[in-house]
Amino acid sequence: MTERSTVGASAVQADSQNQAALRDRIAEALYTHDHPGHLVPLNKTGMGAAYRDTADAVLAVLPEPVGRVAAWRAAADELDSISDQFDGGGCLCGDCALCTWTEAARHLRREAVEFQKADAADTGRPA
Ligand SMILES: [Zn+2]
Repeated sequence: MTERSTVGASAVQADSQNQAALRDRIAEALYTHDHPGHLVPLNKTGMGAAYRDTADAVLAVLPEPVGRVAAWRAAADELDSISDQFDGGGCLCGDCALCTWTEAARHLRREAVEFQKADAADTGRPA
């Protein structure tokens, strides 16, 4: 794994942790719905796994989060748009602010691709 993909991989890990936390919150909400005013917390009932399975079924029908890939691509487009206003994206010196912005936009697009690859490897969804 390259240094560049480290950001994408840690983002995937964070998303996996967020997904697990969301699944647990859904499981808790379902348990509370079934047992209003319950005194025994879900994790003490022995039914946690069943509620988490049901929560997974709920998660499976939720739309994909728009998330960071779209945000990175939008930011890259914005950087390109701004640098195009100054020089049409034609500077190739590699040393000025416009070239830095152009490289930053390329970096964001590479991160989006790496994130999608890491996410596909992590979840089995196609990139
Ligand atoms: Zn330049």
